[in-house]
Amino acid sequence: MDTSEPRHEPDHDEPLRDEPDHELIEAAAAVARTRARGDRHTMAAAARAADGRIITGLNAYHFTGGPCAELVVLGAAAAQGAYELTTMVAVGDRDRGVVSPCGRCRQVLLDYFPGMRVIVAAADGPRAVAVGDLLPESYVWEDHAD
Ligand SMILES: [Zn+2]
Repeated sequence: MDTSEPRHEPDHDEPLRDEPDHELIEAAAAVARTRARGDRHTMAAAARAADGRIITGLNAYHFTGGPCAELVVLGAAAAQGAYELTTMVAVGDRDRGVVSPCGRCRQVLLDYFPGMRVIVAAADGPRAVAVGDLLPESYVWEDHAD
């Protein structure tokens, strides 16, 4: 019997889940913890730029439809010259942890950065997913622009 034949073993190096960018989560959590105040600023977001930078922001709540933290980050990133964002995460104030993006933000993120990863809240902890997976069969703005 040839004992040199490798037995089939499960590959433990293979990630069982899509590991999120923990540094990014912590950046958003730090802003939520230290800068979120009262009713106006309740959610923080952080994005990883293609060049490695992290850009953070807070939502600007208003009953007329103030922007979510994710959208504030898009503008803040552009203001800093970071036009390519690769990952986004939002964290709630009062230790709410990672919060998945709302429908509007999903659509905006998909249209701005179709290749983006979004860190979402899951039952077993935060998980990074492709933004397109958050909006199956979605409307794509670019397909209708001329
Ligand atoms: Zn939103």
